[in-house]
Amino acid sequence: MTVGDGIATISGLLNATYQEILIFSSGVRGMVLEMERDVTGCILFDDEESVVEGSTVRRTGKTAGIPVGDNFLGRVIDALGNPIDGKGPINADGYRPIESPAPRIVDRQPVNRPLQTGILAIDALFPIGHGQRELIIGDRQTGKTTIALDTILNQKGKNVICIYVAIGQKASSVAQTVNVLRQHGAMEYSIVVNASASDPAPLQYIAPYSGCALGEYFMNKGQSVLIIYDDLTKHATAYRSLSLLLERSPGREAYPGDVFYLHSRLLERSAQLSDEKGGGSMTALPIVETQAGNVSAYIPTNIISITDGQIFLESDLFFSGQRPAVNIGLSVSRVGGDAQTKAMKSAVGTLRLDLAQYQEMEVFMQFASDLDDITKKQLDYGHSLMQLLRQDKYRPLKQYEQIILLVVGLNHVMQEIPSEEIKEFKFKMLQYIEEQAPHIIKELESNNFNDKIKEDIVKFAREYLKQYVSGGDK
Ligand code: ATP
Ligand code: MG
Repeated sequence: MTVGDGIATISGLLNATYQEILIFSSGVRGMVLEMERDVTGCILFDDEESVVEGSTVRRTGKTAGIPVGDNFLGRVIDALGNPIDGKGPINADGYRPIESPAPRIVDRQPVNRPLQTGILAIDALFPIGHGQRELIIGDRQTGKTTIALDTILNQKGKNVICIYVAIGQKASSVAQTVNVLRQHGAMEYSIVVNASASDPAPLQYIAPYSGCALGEYFMNKGQSVLIIYDDLTKHATAYRSLSLLLERSPGREAYPGDVFYLHSRLLERSAQLSDEKGGGSMTALPIVETQAGNVSAYIPTNIISITDGQIFLESDLFFSGQRPAVNIGLSVSRVGGDAQTKAMKSAVGTLRLDLAQYQEMEVFMQFASDLDDITKKQLDYGHSLMQLLRQDKYRPLKQYEQIILLVVGLNHVMQEIPSEEIKEFKFKMLQYIEEQAPHIIKELESNNFNDKIKEDIVKFAREYLKQYVSGGDK
């Protein structure tokens, strides 16, 4: 009956089902998204130019799905599973519907294995476990994608399959992302699903479900999967335009009434499966973009309530040089604490409390000259902790490095070092400990941590500090 904007309305299709694939006489494929008494609305996956009023349409009886298999590792594909990296066809092992029910409660087990991001601020304060869904939320250009990429890089050699779903991004940014993964040797255990801004809205709409279907293939085989949806704001926008074109009634912020379900049914598919089900897992890091830090807008509140916590990134922190710009007060991880290793947990100690205290006192910084000595010392200490949490991109930290840095920071070793030198000091000190006290590293790597090791770390760090301050190592 009509065609335009990636949507076609069809009459006379009997018994078509929701999400069934249709084929137009010219070969163009579509998917049923709207069913009325006499009219079927469908979204089109291919160029709509060859579809005209009066074209014939056939049902296929198949629901939308994508090919899946081990050969997808290392590849860049579109939302329908076609390779778009110019490396030839992919031999699939099977085919999965893009939408399938989430694992049942009895098929799951609690989150209990840590999934380390390699980012100190996150692993120490907002730990993530396999099977968890942790939202990364923040304004434009606050380092959201970088956190996701760092997490992928940190999975190297850890037997985790990473799937990066890019929704509505510029093709050039996705190309850059793929480049970063290649350069760091992370592509061999990763898959990139891309529905870029120039792709039709239907493809942007199904991309995360396709990525999730691929993830389920590996999860059901008992493997661990990390999936990133970058980002769900653009996904919601694509769905909104489809819904409006299908003439569904707009609700809050012009989104259709089922926009919550759009994301809940996607994120519920992440799980830590029970051992009977193979023990596979899918950890999801959805990304959401906010406007001027407003987390109470419609889509952000929806996704905050669906996920098991959020990493909140703040522009002000980002521009002041505090990167990753994690807002300590507004970020949470509701289940990951159970998955944090014992060593890490005891190393973190009073970090959260100390940082909270510092943030409360920070306003007094401007009166720095009038402060008494004790307050000044406390401010310096807090400041050094904030410096400790700064981290360059694409340089994930190993767990033993994180523990050493935490112990050193919390024992006031770095306090006297001027802030611009802390970064240099951190790495040189780590190197010093690696060389002078390999037994510490060995213990930490086998997850042993006690007061004796703690004292040793502080001892060697102080030793190095003396050397550093006396100018011997500048
Ligand atoms: P967008 O909203 O455009 O998707 P984003 O929030 O995903 O942005 P990124 O693209 O990850 O942000 O980062 C923005 C810029 O900040 C990039 O140039 C990135 O290289 C830089 N950046 C991010 N994190 C760090 C960091 N820890 N250290 C140094 N630079 C960083
Ligand atoms: Mg980004």
